Amino acid sequence: MTFSFCPPDYGTMKPGEREAHLTSFAEQGGKQLMLNDKFWYWRCRDKAAFETFVRTMSSLGVCFGSCHGLWCNNNDLNWPDPGSRPMMWAEHREFMALAADFNLHSYVVHPGILWRHFSEERLWAFVGESVEQLLPAAQKRKITLALENNLPENQGYDSRQLADFYTRYADDFLGFCFDSGHAHVAEDVQTVLAVLGEHVVTCHLHDNNSRTDQHLPPGDGTIDWTNLMHALKTKCPRLKCWEAEAPALGSPVWSKTIQAYRKLESMA
Ligand SMILES: [Zn+2]
Repeated sequence: MTFSFCPPDYGTMKPGEREAHLTSFAEQGGKQLMLNDKFWYWRCRDKAAFETFVRTMSSLGVCFGSCHGLWCNNNDLNWPDPGSRPMMWAEHREFMALAADFNLHSYVVHPGILWRHFSEERLWAFVGESVEQLLPAAQKRKITLALENNLPENQGYDSRQLADFYTRYADDFLGFCFDSGHAHVAEDVQTVLAVLGEHVVTCHLHDNNSRTDQHLPPGDGTIDWTNLMHALKTKCPRLKCWEAEAPALGSPVWSKTIQAYRKLESMA
């Protein structure tokens, strides 16, 4: 397996700077990048520059390996404003189509934050309605909608609730994104995988101290990576994508981060 790395915001870099950064990533053995909201908004602003960048990626042997869909507040599936929900679904469908054009396997979405004026039941109904709106597009483009387990202040912090939600749809193009950092804070990585593992299709791997979502490289926090990698291999028959979510800043950080994930690749 190969990790797909969380990119910096290439769209806000100067052209020379962005190419130098990408070249350094490739020279250090990086092969795949995560297609994310930053790329999406860059492409909306300047499609030609985005497409030039994709050609540069390909000349350096780098491709998109995974897709993190649009997220945060009005992009999350439980966004409660009825007036703007149809626009949110439309934009997800467009981004999903782009991800499918890059042959990506899954499109990660967040249920959303726990809006305090709504009951959790009502918020799950919003998530359900959004899944019903997006699933036909996912099926058509053969890309899997992956709901991410989240932190305690968000919906989807409780793996049992996510599993119960899944059983309402039980579709080949619906699954979960297992986020190791969120699981380590909210419950426990092994507990979450025992509940969700069967339908985990992609994973966000990063470390923390079990109290805050620090997004550290694997090995810099308190997750037991040997046991976690074993569980990912044995409990997740639908798992196809491996995503590295420790932040990528300058070259020295890339280097250290890439090495940490290389170690995991050798364990998988
Ligand atoms: Zn994540």
